[in-house]
Amino acid sequence: MKIIFATNNAHKLSEVQEMLGERFRLVTPRECGVTEEIPEEEPTLEGNALEKARYLYRRTGADCFADDTGLEVDALGGAPGVRSARYAPGEGHDFAANTAFLLKNMEQVPDGERTARFRTVIALILGGREYLFEGEVRGVILRAPDGEGGFGYDPVFLPDGCDRTFARMDTHAKNAISHRGRAVARLAAFLKERFA
Ligand code: IMP
Repeated sequence: MKIIFATNNAHKLSEVQEMLGERFRLVTPRECGVTEEIPEEEPTLEGNALEKARYLYRRTGADCFADDTGLEVDALGGAPGVRSARYAPGEGHDFAANTAFLLKNMEQVPDGERTARFRTVIALILGGREYLFEGEVRGVILRAPDGEGGFGYDPVFLPDGCDRTFARMDTHAKNAISHRGRAVARLAAFLKERFA
């Protein structure tokens, strides 16, 4: 069965494809002729995931899903949250700039109060009906990056109960406990039951 996944990020695509299994073949918006940027202008993760999925559904009429992820830091009132991808001021929105800006904003936050969570929301449109799935992982923000793997805020995020950051885990270990891994597991369970 074919489903469109609203990403052109090959890394994400293969991660999610592996979790869904061969029964569901993921295709990208580009493969379906959607080459323009898909809008994501809502103030919440749920809103953005739905906005992207609805856009794709309107454009293609096909079953599809979209995800949106944010890092929510308790001491910063939930920031960067929905702005995680473009947190650093100015044009420098790369991962290193965003992470440096986060660490700077948390300089005064004491060790016991550096709690945070990654949260992923997936919006699925199947046969014209909408479904939401969520996954989260809690942890703490370190004072300096540790590790070279992963992407985004991985080098400064130490998941609860773990002795190494996401940037020191391979994809498989990260997927087993990550926000996206948990949200995709819920999506996969739903799809497998639906098409059992
Ligand atoms: P997206 O919604 O998956 O594009 O994620 C938005 C932003 O959140 C990314 O640009 C990253 O900065 C951050 N992010 C998402 N997932 C992860 C992750 O697994 N590790 C670290 N950062 C992430």
